[in-house]
Amino acid sequence: MRDFTLQRDMMIREQLEYRGISDPAVIAAMRAVPREEFVPADVRAYAYEDGPLPIGEGQTISQPYMVAYMTEALELSRGDRVLEIGTGSGYAAAVLSRIVAEVHTVERIAGLAMAARERLDRLGYTNIRIHVGDGSLGWPDQAPYDAIVVTAGAPEIPQPLTEQLATGGRLVIPVGLNLTFQTLVRVRRTGKDDYSREELMAVMFVPLIGAAGWESR
Ligand code: SAH
Repeated sequence: MRDFTLQRDMMIREQLEYRGISDPAVIAAMRAVPREEFVPADVRAYAYEDGPLPIGEGQTISQPYMVAYMTEALELSRGDRVLEIGTGSGYAAAVLSRIVAEVHTVERIAGLAMAARERLDRLGYTNIRIHVGDGSLGWPDQAPYDAIVVTAGAPEIPQPLTEQLATGGRLVIPVGLNLTFQTLVRVRRTGKDDYSREELMAVMFVPLIGAAGWESR
Protein backbone atom coordinates (compact mmCIF):
# COMPACT_ATOMS: atom_id res chain seq x y z
CA MET A 1 0.00 0.00 0.00
CA ARG A 2 1.29 3.41 -1.05
CA ASP A 3 0.56 4.98 2.33
CA PHE A 4 2.70 2.35 4.14
CA THR A 5 5.58 2.93 1.70
CA LEU A 6 5.56 6.61 2.61
CA GLN A 7 5.36 5.82 6.32
CA ARG A 8 8.27 3.40 5.97
CA ASP A 9 10.40 6.05 4.24
CA MET A 10 9.60 8.50 7.04
CA MET A 11 10.44 5.90 9.70
CA ILE A 12 13.82 5.33 8.03
CA ARG A 13 14.64 9.04 7.93
CA GLU A 14 13.26 10.14 11.29
CA GLN A 15 13.77 7.10 13.52
CA LEU A 16 16.83 5.42 11.98
CA GLU A 17 19.06 7.81 9.99
CA TYR A 18 18.43 10.74 12.32
CA ARG A 19 19.61 8.57 15.26
CA GLY A 20 22.73 7.43 13.49
CA ILE A 21 21.91 4.17 11.69
CA SER A 22 24.12 4.43 8.62
CA ASP A 23 24.98 0.95 7.27
CA PRO A 24 23.51 0.99 3.73
CA ALA A 25 22.70 -2.74 3.91
CA VAL A 26 20.69 -2.22 7.10
CA ILE A 27 18.83 0.78 5.68
CA ALA A 28 18.04 -1.16 2.48
CA ALA A 29 16.76 -4.14 4.48
CA MET A 30 14.56 -1.93 6.68
CA ARG A 31 13.18 -0.40 3.46
CA ALA A 32 12.55 -3.82 1.91
CA VAL A 33 10.55 -5.42 4.73
CA PRO A 34 6.86 -4.40 5.10
CA ARG A 35 6.48 -4.10 8.90
CA GLU A 36 2.69 -3.70 8.51
CA GLU A 37 2.53 -7.38 7.48
CA PHE A 38 4.12 -8.48 10.77
CA VAL A 39 1.69 -6.85 13.21
CA PRO A 40 -1.88 -7.87 14.11
CA ALA A 41 -4.62 -6.25 11.98
CA ASP A 42 -5.91 -4.12 14.86
CA VAL A 43 -2.58 -2.29 15.28
CA ARG A 44 -1.61 -2.15 11.59
CA ALA A 45 -2.22 1.60 11.49
CA TYR A 46 0.61 1.95 14.05
CA ALA A 47 3.08 -0.26 12.19
CA TYR A 48 5.58 2.59 11.70
CA GLU A 49 5.24 4.20 15.13
CA ASP A 50 8.44 4.60 17.12
CA GLY A 51 7.92 1.72 19.58
CA PRO A 52 7.20 -1.97 20.12
CA LEU A 53 3.70 -3.38 19.45
CA PRO A 54 1.82 -6.37 20.93
CA ILE A 55 1.81 -9.54 18.79
CA GLY A 56 -0.17 -11.84 21.13
CA GLU A 57 0.93 -14.38 23.79
CA GLY A 58 2.17 -11.44 25.90
CA GLN A 59 5.01 -10.82 23.41
CA THR A 60 5.98 -7.82 21.29
CA ILE A 61 7.52 -6.92 17.94
CA SER A 62 10.53 -4.72 18.73
CA GLN A 63 10.74 -1.00 17.96
CA PRO A 64 12.02 -0.45 14.39
CA TYR A 65 15.06 1.47 15.69
CA MET A 66 15.99 -1.42 18.01
CA VAL A 67 15.79 -3.92 15.12
CA ALA A 68 17.99 -1.67 12.97
CA TYR A 69 20.45 -0.95 15.80
CA MET A 70 20.90 -4.62 16.73
CA THR A 71 21.22 -5.62 13.07
CA GLU A 72 23.90 -2.96 12.52
CA ALA A 73 25.69 -4.03 15.72
CA LEU A 74 26.03 -7.57 14.29
CA GLU A 75 28.43 -6.24 11.59
CA LEU A 76 27.00 -8.59 8.97
CA SER A 77 28.46 -9.67 5.63
CA ARG A 78 26.61 -11.12 2.63
CA GLY A 79 27.68 -14.72 3.14
CA ASP A 80 27.00 -14.87 6.90
CA ARG A 81 24.88 -17.49 8.62
CA VAL A 82 22.88 -15.95 11.46
CA LEU A 83 20.99 -17.34 14.44
CA GLU A 84 18.17 -15.32 16.01
CA ILE A 85 16.65 -16.27 19.37
CA GLY A 86 13.05 -15.06 19.75
CA THR A 87 11.30 -15.25 16.36
CA GLY A 88 8.16 -13.49 17.60
CA SER A 89 6.45 -12.05 14.51
CA GLY A 90 9.37 -12.94 12.23
CA TYR A 91 10.07 -9.27 11.46
CA ALA A 92 13.68 -9.12 12.66
CA ALA A 93 14.38 -12.45 10.91
CA ALA A 94 13.01 -10.96 7.68
CA VAL A 95 15.27 -7.90 8.04
CA LEU A 96 18.31 -10.11 8.70
CA SER A 97 17.45 -12.34 5.73
CA ARG A 98 17.74 -9.39 3.33
CA ILE A 99 21.39 -8.92 4.35
CA VAL A 100 22.86 -12.39 4.85
CA ALA A 101 22.84 -15.84 3.22
CA GLU A 102 20.93 -17.82 5.82
CA VAL A 103 18.90 -17.13 8.96
CA HIS A 104 17.95 -19.68 11.62
CA THR A 105 15.49 -18.43 14.21
CA VAL A 106 14.24 -20.15 17.36
CA GLU A 107 10.93 -19.45 19.15
CA ARG A 108 9.67 -21.18 22.30
CA ILE A 109 5.96 -20.45 21.71
CA ALA A 110 4.77 -22.83 18.98
CA GLY A 111 1.78 -20.66 18.00
CA LEU A 112 4.00 -17.65 17.28
CA ALA A 113 6.47 -19.80 15.35
CA MET A 114 3.65 -21.22 13.19
CA ALA A 115 2.21 -17.78 12.47
CA ALA A 116 5.67 -16.44 11.59
CA ARG A 117 6.34 -19.40 9.28
CA GLU A 118 3.03 -18.89 7.45
CA ARG A 119 3.69 -15.16 7.12
CA LEU A 120 7.29 -15.51 5.88
CA ASP A 121 6.22 -18.17 3.34
CA ARG A 122 3.41 -15.97 2.08
CA LEU A 123 5.76 -12.99 1.71
CA GLY A 124 8.29 -15.11 -0.19
CA TYR A 125 11.24 -15.32 2.23
CA THR A 126 13.18 -18.45 1.33
CA ASN A 127 16.40 -18.23 3.39
CA ILE A 128 14.84 -18.34 6.88
CA ARG A 129 14.41 -21.54 8.89
CA ILE A 130 12.17 -21.38 11.96
CA HIS A 131 12.73 -23.80 14.83
CA VAL A 132 10.57 -24.36 17.93
CA GLY A 133 12.48 -24.84 21.16
CA ASP A 134 14.46 -23.27 23.99
CA GLY A 135 16.76 -20.81 22.24
CA SER A 136 18.64 -20.04 25.46
CA LEU A 137 20.50 -23.21 24.48
CA GLY A 138 21.03 -21.89 20.94
CA TRP A 139 20.49 -24.25 18.01
CA PRO A 140 23.54 -26.54 18.05
CA ASP A 141 22.42 -28.48 14.99
CA GLN A 142 23.41 -25.66 12.60
CA ALA A 143 26.34 -24.15 14.58
CA PRO A 144 28.69 -22.36 14.28
CA TYR A 145 27.13 -19.02 13.38
CA ASP A 146 28.81 -15.82 12.19
CA ALA A 147 26.33 -13.82 14.23
CA ILE A 148 23.76 -14.52 16.94
CA VAL A 149 21.11 -12.04 18.05
CA VAL A 150 18.82 -12.50 21.03
CA THR A 151 15.61 -10.46 21.09
CA ALA A 152 14.68 -11.26 24.71
CA GLY A 153 16.45 -10.30 27.94
CA ALA A 154 18.70 -12.82 29.70
CA PRO A 155 19.90 -12.74 33.34
CA GLU A 156 23.42 -13.49 32.08
CA ILE A 157 25.06 -14.44 28.80
CA PRO A 158 24.05 -18.05 28.00
CA GLN A 159 27.21 -20.10 27.55
CA PRO A 160 25.70 -22.29 24.78
CA LEU A 161 25.36 -19.16 22.65
CA THR A 162 28.99 -18.06 22.95
CA GLU A 163 30.05 -21.65 22.24
CA GLN A 164 28.03 -21.63 19.00
CA LEU A 165 29.81 -18.54 17.63
CA ALA A 166 32.34 -19.01 14.84
CA THR A 167 35.76 -17.47 15.49
CA GLY A 168 35.29 -13.80 14.66
CA GLY A 169 31.55 -14.18 15.32
CA ARG A 170 29.41 -11.61 17.12
CA LEU A 171 26.63 -12.12 19.71
CA VAL A 172 24.27 -9.23 20.49
CA ILE A 173 22.06 -9.78 23.54
CA PRO A 174 20.15 -7.82 26.21
CA VAL A 175 21.54 -8.84 29.62
CA GLY A 176 20.65 -7.92 33.17
CA LEU A 177 19.32 -9.08 36.53
CA ASN A 178 16.02 -7.27 36.08
CA LEU A 179 13.02 -8.72 34.22
CA THR A 180 12.32 -5.50 32.31
CA PHE A 181 15.51 -3.45 31.94
CA GLN A 182 18.73 -4.75 30.43
CA THR A 183 22.04 -3.63 28.93
CA LEU A 184 22.58 -4.51 25.29
CA VAL A 185 25.88 -6.37 25.16
CA ARG A 186 28.05 -7.41 22.20
CA VAL A 187 30.34 -10.41 22.63
CA ARG A 188 32.97 -11.13 19.99
CA ARG A 189 34.68 -14.49 19.76
CA THR A 190 38.28 -13.57 19.11
CA GLY A 191 39.73 -17.08 19.39
CA LYS A 192 38.86 -20.60 20.47
CA ASP A 193 38.71 -19.62 24.14
CA ASP A 194 38.88 -15.84 23.79
CA TYR A 195 35.99 -13.44 23.89
CA SER A 196 35.69 -9.65 24.15
CA ARG A 197 32.64 -7.90 25.56
CA GLU A 198 31.22 -4.39 25.01
CA GLU A 199 28.21 -2.69 26.54
CA LEU A 200 26.20 -0.84 23.88
CA MET A 201 23.13 0.77 25.51
CA ALA A 202 20.25 0.47 27.97
CA VAL A 203 17.27 -1.46 26.57
CA MET A 204 13.91 -3.05 27.54
CA PHE A 205 12.98 -6.53 26.32
CA VAL A 206 10.58 -9.31 27.32
CA PRO A 207 12.39 -12.04 29.30
CA LEU A 208 14.31 -14.91 27.73
CA ILE A 209 12.68 -17.95 29.34
CA GLY A 210 14.64 -21.18 29.36
CA ALA A 211 17.34 -23.37 30.83
CA ALA A 212 20.05 -20.71 30.31
CA GLY A 213 17.52 -17.88 30.71
CA TRP A 214 15.07 -16.96 33.46
CA GLU A 215 13.47 -20.31 34.25
CA SER A 216 16.67 -21.65 35.73
CA ARG A 217 16.47 -19.33 38.76
N1 SAH B 1 12.32 -10.66 17.05
C1 SAH B 1 10.90 -10.55 17.31
C2 SAH B 1 10.61 -9.96 18.67
C3 SAH B 1 10.31 -11.04 19.59
S1 SAH B 1 9.90 -10.68 21.27
C4 SAH B 1 10.18 -9.79 16.23
O1 SAH B 1 10.84 -9.25 15.34
O2 SAH B 1 8.95 -9.79 16.22
C5 SAH B 1 10.85 -11.99 22.03
C6 SAH B 1 10.44 -13.38 21.67
O3 SAH B 1 11.34 -14.26 22.34
C7 SAH B 1 9.04 -13.78 22.09
O4 SAH B 1 8.32 -14.23 21.00
C8 SAH B 1 9.29 -14.92 23.10
O5 SAH B 1 8.31 -15.93 23.07
C9 SAH B 1 10.62 -15.43 22.64
N2 SAH B 1 11.39 -16.19 23.62
C10 SAH B 1 11.53 -15.99 24.96
N3 SAH B 1 12.35 -16.92 25.51
C11 SAH B 1 12.75 -17.73 24.48
C12 SAH B 1 13.60 -18.87 24.39
N4 SAH B 1 14.23 -19.39 25.45
N5 SAH B 1 13.78 -19.44 23.18
C13 SAH B 1 13.16 -18.96 22.08
N6 SAH B 1 12.35 -17.88 22.09
C14 SAH B 1 12.15 -17.27 23.29
